[in-house]
Amino acid sequence: MPSGACSHLDAITAVKHAKRRECAECVKIGDSWVHLRTCQECGATLCCDSSPNQHASKHARKSGHPVIASAEPGERWLYCYPDDGFLEY
Ligand SMILES: [Zn+2]
Ligand SMILES: [Zn+2]
Ligand SMILES: [Zn+2]
Repeated sequence: MPSGACSHLDAITAVKHAKRRECAECVKIGDSWVHLRTCQECGATLCCDSSPNQHASKHARKSGHPVIASAEPGERWLYCYPDDGFLEY
């Protein structure tokens, strides 16, 4: 894994992938999403900031879990919320 973006991204040794192709929170409220992101701390798959509910960034703020991975097919990158760090893998 390349390093240099921030300590959170440096700490990722294996990327957690989405178990389900849906936002766990949107499904509960019957809403829709645009893109999916997977929390690298707990593995929760939630919707991106282009989605109406922005569950992934809400989760990051509330839980303090800093890093998400894109859960979109063909996208291979990680993002750290507190440091605005981006890393392709
Ligand atoms: Zn970071
Ligand atoms: Zn959502
Ligand atoms: Zn999490």
